[in-house]
Amino acid sequence: MNLFKIRSLSFRINLWIIDTDPIFLGLFARFGGVRQDKLIEYNESIEKKIEERTRELKVAKEEAEESNRAKSEFLSSMSHELRTPLNAISGFAQILKMNTENNLTTVQLNNIDRIYAAGKHLLKLINEVLDLSSIESGRIKLSMETIDMKKFMGEIKTIVELLVIKDEIEFILDSAEFDSHFLHADRLRLKQVVLNLISNGIKYNIRGESLRIYKERREANMIRLVFEDTGIGIPREKWSQVFQLFNRLGKETMTIEGTGIGLSITKKIVEMMDGQIDFESEEGVGSKFFVDLPIPGIVYNLGV
Ligand code: ADP
Repeated sequence: MNLFKIRSLSFRINLWIIDTDPIFLGLFARFGGVRQDKLIEYNESIEKKIEERTRELKVAKEEAEESNRAKSEFLSSMSHELRTPLNAISGFAQILKMNTENNLTTVQLNNIDRIYAAGKHLLKLINEVLDLSSIESGRIKLSMETIDMKKFMGEIKTIVELLVIKDEIEFILDSAEFDSHFLHADRLRLKQVVLNLISNGIKYNIRGESLRIYKERREANMIRLVFEDTGIGIPREKWSQVFQLFNRLGKETMTIEGTGIGLSITKKIVEMMDGQIDFESEEGVGSKFFVDLPIPGIVYNLGV
């Protein structure tokens, strides 16, 4: 190869490097100042691209916030519009059921019961959708406090015992077990979580079987509440769907009432209170739902 050919080849390699890879530009600029103008140009184009992307992201964020606001407004106005006629339907169904003129047949009275039950179900659905939407949009503010668990569980026991008598389930909750145990939580929301898990433990249970609530100490700073039922259980292949919104795992074909929203709300609330929820279950044997929540005096969410 003659000298001219070697020079021409090395010139072409140089050009290829410069045009294809900015890393080489940096090296060239560092070791010889070659093509510095190109490096500056490249930097400027990157800055311009970053600015463009930032602008696009800002617009997308504003659009998402706007559509979320619209969704919340729609849900709250829709719920109002639906609740008013629904209350009228339930109210008139109750008046009819009184059968003041004693002229309704048994079939008619049964049908009135159905109207009333359907109205109640729809109202529950609307209230739950609305609750979920306000949780998701961050509109609910938690009021965190120290909760005396013995007192709290005593109140829960009083509420639940009325329900379980009707359902003939053995309900085991020894509030004394929670003596000197405290949680850091929002009282109303904690009640919602506990009552929802109890309600499921009763609904998906079997007459004569049991639902037991007890505590376990987890790490030093958490308490685990356990909701253990000996009910119908959840088959393994459906475990991944348990916290999915509107998913009733096929129970919609059974007579058990439900909306498939309760556990989604429960999970969101527990996580907002720096806790965790999980479960174990076996079909035909029963289920165990666990809620881990922090005890007072622990500072979470330091923002680091
Ligand atoms: P639902 O209104 O249907 O009860 P949830 O969100 O509370 O809605 O629960 C979702 C689904 O998980 C239920 O439909 C049911 O199939 C299942 N599930 C929840 N808790 C239990 C339980 N303790 N035992 C068996 N299945 C349960």
